[in-house]
Order: sequence, then structure tokens, then C-alpha cells
Amino acid sequence: MTEEIITLKEKSFKLGEAVAAVSDIDVSFCYQCGKCSTGCPVAYAMDLTPTQLIHAMQLGLHDVVYKSNTMWLCVSCLTCSTRCPQDVDIPGAFDAVKILMERNKETPREPDVLAVTKSFAQNLRWFGRMYELGMVGVIKLRTRKFTQDLGMGMKMLKKNKFNLLPGFEGAWETRKIFRRVKKQEKA
Ligand code: SF4
Ligand code: SF4
Repeated sequence: MTEEIITLKEKSFKLGEAVAAVSDIDVSFCYQCGKCSTGCPVAYAMDLTPTQLIHAMQLGLHDVVYKSNTMWLCVSCLTCSTRCPQDVDIPGAFDAVKILMERNKETPREPDVLAVTKSFAQNLRWFGRMYELGMVGVIKLRTRKFTQDLGMGMKMLKKNKFNLLPGFEGAWETRKIFRRVKKQEKA
């Protein structure tokens, strides 16, 4: 029993420390007032409210945090962190956990959301701005859901909602930013 408690304490310490190391966000400042959750536009679809997920992080409940869909449904609107009396960057903490999961090769609860996020970043790195058709292609390759939303895609193509060819304006500058961030991450 004592050993169990020690392990839990160590885990708790490590999760909080890891989140802080990745993002500089200290989730221990949260005192569970619940303001973030009452303002969150997506809370109705989350299995844990943002308040509960932050609490699970404070307690070092890795499994609860990793298995929750909350951070994957978060749309980073920042309503929660704007309302937070303790200035906790809640979506930033969610992103930090996603980074930790990636490093630890944990399976994401919503792999399609991760596929969209990665494709978006890749698109920006390549073209310097959003090239929707290219992004859709990469998402399809990542998710292997080739026929999903095909009808809607065709309709959008007919209405010229997609550029057929990418533009490269600002691409070089954007790549430089990506390289700089990568260097900082390595350091
Ligand atoms: S940033 Fe995420 S968690 Fe915060 S209010 Fe918006 S959707 Fe909800
Ligand atoms: S608003 Fe801030 S202090 Fe209140 S529960 Fe959310 S994260 Fe914690």
C-alpha cells in the first residue's frame, strides 16, 4: 500500500513537472472554481470538463488524462483561459499533454483530430499558407478514409471553394519560423 502511494506521488509529480517543462504552464495554480468549464462552448461533448481534466493532471492520473476526449475536442477558442482567475493556460496545458503523449508513443483518443492538426502544420510548412486541396489530400492519406465527405468535397470543388494550385507567397519565411522553433525545441 505504501509503495502504491509513493508510486502515485511520483507519477503525480512527474506529470505536473512534464507539463510545466513542455509548456511553462503550472496546472497546480488551478483551485477548481469551474469558470473555465461553464464558458467552454464544447464542454457538452467532452467526457470530462476542462476543470476535471486539469484536476486529473494535478493528481497525476495519467490514464484518465490520456483516455479523455476533452483535449481532442478543444477548439482552442481561449474562452476558458480568459475567464480563469488564476491565469491557467488551459488549452496550452492540453497541447502539452498531447506533446507528451506523442513522445511516449501513447495512442491518441481521437486520431483523426491529430491527423488534421498535423496536416495543417505540414501544409503551412510547405506552402506558407493554407492550401486546402493539399491539406485534404494529406488528411485522407493519414486517416485512410478516402471516400468520407467525398460528396461535399465535390460540391465545394464545383463552387470553386478550393484553389486547384497552391500559392507559395511567404513560404520561405514560414519555413524559417518552423526551423527556428525546431532548433529551440532541440535546445
Ligand atoms: S479553449 Fe478549449 S477548453 Fe477552453 S473554452 Fe475553448 S474549447 Fe473549451
Ligand atoms: S477557471 Fe482556472 S482556476 Fe478555475 S477551474 Fe478553470 S483552470 Fe481552475
